Amino acid sequence: MKVWMDGNLVDRARATVSVFDHGLLYGDGVFEGIRIYSGRIFQCQAHVNRLYNSARLIRLAIPYTKQEIVEAMRETLRANGIEDGYIRLVVTRGVGTLGLDPFKCAEPVTFIIADQIKLYPQEMYDEGMAVIIAKTVRVADRQIPSAAKTLNYLNNILARIEAVDAGVAEAIMLNTDGHVSECTGDNLFLVEGGKVVTPPLTASILPGITRDVVIKLARQLGLEAEEETLPVERLYRADECFLTGTAAEVIAVTKIDGRTIGGGKVGPVTDKLLAAFREFIRGDEAEGAID
Ligand code: PMP
Repeated sequence: MKVWMDGNLVDRARATVSVFDHGLLYGDGVFEGIRIYSGRIFQCQAHVNRLYNSARLIRLAIPYTKQEIVEAMRETLRANGIEDGYIRLVVTRGVGTLGLDPFKCAEPVTFIIADQIKLYPQEMYDEGMAVIIAKTVRVADRQIPSAAKTLNYLNNILARIEAVDAGVAEAIMLNTDGHVSECTGDNLFLVEGGKVVTPPLTASILPGITRDVVIKLARQLGLEAEEETLPVERLYRADECFLTGTAAEVIAVTKIDGRTIGGGKVGPVTDKLLAAFREFIRGDEAEGAID
């Protein structure tokens, strides 16, 4: 495997960062996880834009243009012969002192890993998955901007540990207002009376790119799709629940905290959206221009 590191393709074993990198010392940096379908970078522009937004929110200046980053991703894919897989694109604050001050760091470090992706087992897509509601509260937007996809994932990891302890694959996190936010690595949707609802960006969620695609697809299918503040009770009462994310794509949730959701099976709306998503993947034209 070849890893792209600031302009060089280096062997996996040599793809290392310094112990003085603030990405490691403090989780100070930003990243993206991006799907590659049939040799194409899925929602390329949206991912690159989110990376630069994340960086701006933490006052990190990425030392490349967006076009250079896209070229670097393509180069990494070519070097590894990846046609279907996943890209991890990371920009760390770089090497600094042992103090917190990010402006004492020399240069950001950018690297790109292209690899295969590990999926949830197929039966979870067929049968739906069980999740819990974590006790760990989603960190508030005013504490760490939730629009920034940063290297600091400890909040999510603590909730994921609760999921692992409970023997399930994901955990729903509530925000500091007690409303539904998102899962540890996925956004959440409900279906209520044929209407698709998901928490708003103000609910301390990551603006998921799959979430955006699914909202658009739902509307194209003639479904009502809205962002709404969701109290926990609406989770339990929903007809259907599903998660969206780069790795998960679209996956039904059929059990929350041991309670069966809807009919306990993948619901018709989720099914429709999953099919529409698969169709969209085949025709995604969004790789084009970068603004
Ligand atoms: N929320 C969190 C916390 C995530 O880490 C992810 C995965 N990046 C998502 C939501 C889903 O976002 P996307 O659809 O852009 O992968």
